[in-house]
Amino acid sequence: MGEFDLIARYFTRPSRHAVLGVGDDCALLHIQAGMQLAVSSDMLVQGRHFLPTTPAAGLGHKALAVNLSDLAACGAKPVAFTLALALPSVDEAWLSGFSQGLWELADAHGCELIGGDTTQGPLNICITVMGEVPPGDALLRQHAQVGDDIYVSGTVGDARLALEVFRGTVSVDMAHFEAARLRLERPTPRIALGMALRGVANAAIDISDGLLGDLGHIVQRSKVGAVIDTAWVQDSAAISEAMQSISFNKRLEFALAGGDDYELLFTAPPDQAEAVLDAAEACGVSVTCMGRITPVAGVQVLDLQGVPLSRRFASFDHFAT
Ligand code: ADP
Ligand code: MG
Repeated sequence: MGEFDLIARYFTRPSRHAVLGVGDDCALLHIQAGMQLAVSSDMLVQGRHFLPTTPAAGLGHKALAVNLSDLAACGAKPVAFTLALALPSVDEAWLSGFSQGLWELADAHGCELIGGDTTQGPLNICITVMGEVPPGDALLRQHAQVGDDIYVSGTVGDARLALEVFRGTVSVDMAHFEAARLRLERPTPRIALGMALRGVANAAIDISDGLLGDLGHIVQRSKVGAVIDTAWVQDSAAISEAMQSISFNKRLEFALAGGDDYELLFTAPPDQAEAVLDAAEACGVSVTCMGRITPVAGVQVLDLQGVPLSRRFASFDHFAT
């Protein structure tokens, strides 16, 4: 099967909203009048972002999910995406699984594949997503205010837990492993929550590299600091049953610095607390308040007694030595 047959077979469907989809030199999109376009790219590289054993359908899902998660963090509504793919060979079983995982998530969010590029090479998947957001409504990293509460959606740490089970450094029972593995391989982009937090949250980011590291981006861009409690790591909606089954110290590490969570980390003023809970309930996702924004630069983690922890939590950095 050649390049063009492959594209036609696995990555071409009739356009829905796009004026012109796959097949020409450019795709054409009609932008809704008065809307801003939110654009983001994320690349998945074998060996770096996923294990060679990852099922193809899960990869199709994850490649798009991590991109949609960036739209969610900005409060944008998904519109379209492009797919740049390097494949070692034409493996139809793989392509069929991959495209199935991709289409399922794309359809769930009404996000249309409008073009891309396909080449031979080590497996590499790069997606660019486009979404729309009313001018001034995008949630940004730079608008956290002193006094804001800090929240996280869903649960954190599970993806790292699954990874460590794969690596053999932690063991949990089968049911907990399967639940954690689902979070690693099938993250849920919090699109509805991001949109519901427009005008409610001051700042937001999605957690890809680890909660503390990503919070670090918010405080740096907003020129503020943060204090994080740890009581919620003991017991809260943000800690899954699988995470409950490991030691507190490991749980703390995975929750605060695990990475690959694709949950929203956001700040909102205390007088918006009810609006935050309403938004979460309307979207069917939990939110957990776990700290506040302070004027003192940096992120401080408090132990269960409220004493600052001296332990450091390294978040993920591709070029860290
Ligand atoms: P060009 O040579 O003009 O860059 P290509 O020959 O690379 O175009 O691609 C042909 C068409 O197929 C283009 O419309 C391109 O956007 C689309 N395309 C290529 N690869 C993919 C892919 N993996 N997924 C979706 N569309 C793709
Ligand atoms: Mg091309």
